[in-house]
Amino acid sequence: MQSKIILYKKVSNDVLAMLKARFQVTQFDTINATNHDAFIAELATAEGLIGASVKIDAAILDAAPNLKAISTISVGIDQFDPADLTQRGIVLLNTPDVLTQTTADTGFALILATARRVVEMADYVRAGNWKHSIGPDCFGTDVQGKTLGIIGMGRIGGAVARRAALGFGMRVLYTNRSPNPAAEQAYSARFTALDDLLKTADFVCVTVPLTPETQGMIGARELALMPAHAILINISRGSIIDEPALIAALEKGQLRGAGLDVFAQEPVSADSPLLRMKNVVALPHIGSATHETRHGMAVCAAQNLIDALDGKKSTNAVNPQR
Ligand code: NAP
Repeated sequence: MQSKIILYKKVSNDVLAMLKARFQVTQFDTINATNHDAFIAELATAEGLIGASVKIDAAILDAAPNLKAISTISVGIDQFDPADLTQRGIVLLNTPDVLTQTTADTGFALILATARRVVEMADYVRAGNWKHSIGPDCFGTDVQGKTLGIIGMGRIGGAVARRAALGFGMRVLYTNRSPNPAAEQAYSARFTALDDLLKTADFVCVTVPLTPETQGMIGARELALMPAHAILINISRGSIIDEPALIAALEKGQLRGAGLDVFAQEPVSADSPLLRMKNVVALPHIGSATHETRHGMAVCAAQNLIDALDGKKSTNAVNPQR
């Protein structure tokens, strides 16, 4: 008999066919208040889960006694407790690499958009305000030749560093728990303590994963270290930055601006003061959101689940197995 799996995100027909060729598939487009009970009921007999953007907590896992593998269609694993999954004998698999370049592109789009005020100036034209040749009140600031500080020099941080160092002649500083010699060699990146990086960089880009250690790692104290001309970019997870502290810093003019793909609460509330600030570029978590990359992620996740339930070891397994 085929193993039963639950798919909890919409995927393209070819990915669905891949899963259906191997499993009995129960499908949900997402999990919400309307279908939560039906999802819980289906978990009783499921051996695999595949999806994204839903917190998989202990209550959900308690309802899934036969679960062997969870394949998340993301590289971030902050919706899971990997140690708990290990305890329960469940393997967690993610989709690294396939989204690295696209997410780095989003980071660089935010660097350029905030520095050159692209969204604000496009709105200015659209509103019919462009009546004369523009003056200094519409000028931005250069990106090329400046200093970029990367918080979390991993796959995505490295891809942002490559664009910065090789494309824009930027000096690259970075912070990690351990040095990254490959990035030092390829991009002349300098391993720098977080406080020094914040004091020195013209642009700071957050690419560290959200973990108990990194939650709120950029708070009021850290924001106060940044020079007033600096711009903060976050393409990782919203809760790494203390959002009220960021709002306060921007309101006080402590920073030139911010480029945010991610927020503490998503979707961000339409009432957020961040959305009223002209020097903030806010995106709806589009880091990896291109047709090609989202498809590649879904294929990778489907293959991860097939391999895991076939008992194959996967390099994309992220929690230690007992
Ligand atoms: P990665 O290769 O694992 O890189 C993460 C880096 O952060 C590593 O260099 C790691 O180095 C460093 N790090 C981890 N914990 C740290 C800590 N406590 N203090 C300082 N540095 C720390 O991951 P990735 O593939 O680049 O992805 C990074 C994150 O991007 C994901 O977790 C996800 O949340 C986010 N993401 C967002 C989007 C989006 O749509 N906006 C898309 C894809 C990914 P050390 O281990 O040496 O510290």
